[in-house]
Amino acid sequence: MAWTAGNGAYRNNVEKISKLSFAVGVYRPPSEGGSGSLLLRVTENCPWNKCTFCEMYKGHSFVYRSVEDIKADIDTVKTMIDEIQEVARKVGQKGRINRDVLQALLSVNPYLNENYCFSTVFNWLYYGGKTAFLQDADSMIMRPLELIEALKHLRKTLPTLSRVTSYTRSKTLSQRKLEDLKAIREAGLDRIHVGLETGDDEVLKIIRKGVTSAEQIDGGKKAMAAGFQLSEYWMPDIGGREHWHQNAENTARVLNEINPHYIRSRPFVPRCGTPIFDDYEQGRMHISSPHERLEELRVMINNLNVTSSVCFDHSMNVWANRQSGLLFRQDYEGYKFPEEKTLVLELIDEGLSIDETRHVHVKDLIAISSL
Ligand code: SF4
Repeated sequence: MAWTAGNGAYRNNVEKISKLSFAVGVYRPPSEGGSGSLLLRVTENCPWNKCTFCEMYKGHSFVYRSVEDIKADIDTVKTMIDEIQEVARKVGQKGRINRDVLQALLSVNPYLNENYCFSTVFNWLYYGGKTAFLQDADSMIMRPLELIEALKHLRKTLPTLSRVTSYTRSKTLSQRKLEDLKAIREAGLDRIHVGLETGDDEVLKIIRKGVTSAEQIDGGKKAMAAGFQLSEYWMPDIGGREHWHQNAENTARVLNEINPHYIRSRPFVPRCGTPIFDDYEQGRMHISSPHERLEELRVMINNLNVTSSVCFDHSMNVWANRQSGLLFRQDYEGYKFPEEKTLVLELIDEGLSIDETRHVHVKDLIAISSL
């Protein structure tokens, strides 16, 4: 590794930081990127890994990590934080983490820029050290007592955290006892993100989600009863033209039963290398046009009877408005229901009123994503 001369006062700190590493994965929800969440892997990859639309962990086996390894990672993060903060003091920033501190660190070791462990910790400090996201796809799969131990250690070691979140599956939630979920919540897990995708049992089977709508409702209700903030992601057009209406109606039905805090739209895009991509390419499923997708959205939104925030914070919510801007706000708090339900329905009508060619077609997104 090539090292530049750098300032001797913090060269040792940078050398130490450069040698530290812990398990950090790639995937996290968009909202966790927006808050600069610290990323920590408590398990690796997905214990299910069979959904036909998902390419995220294909080819990677699930790894159940030991609590000792997770705690050692948290300690490593703490050491890295302390070293970065010491550099911040030495360069006269009184512990403030800003671009000057980053430049000082990179002036000694420019390769830190490519170090994902360093990036997640520096980013986290830069955003105020408030939130953490536990990776990967299903943290609730951990034995409850072990997850609790890891959470307690995280909260004790990093006391500035005000929110800790994670992904899990509806199926896993439905298999957990309510008292275990409550204990996990009390140990410091605040929010869980669940990939509902659809509430339609036929589509759930087709996409091999490994869960029924009854289990989705059971798992979602338990998560709410345990006191978690619950984010449910749904996937407009995951049933294609063949199932769009039942996809919309049954997704609304399930979400009405759960009434989660957040409902987040993540429109379906066939990903190269997935079984559903082959179905699409070989004409066994047909994706909807932008207007057809808005029609599906209208049925789903119309049927929603919730007090959730409905969000369009995923980049695939690409419908255009009359000014050729984005039809929906892409912020992480979204539209508050029921108060803003009429507004969302009006926006859908606005999107339907403009020429369809002015919307981005999902076929173009496939072309972009496979470049
Ligand atoms: S459960 Fe989630 S991560 Fe696992 S295969 Fe399905 S969509 Fe992908």
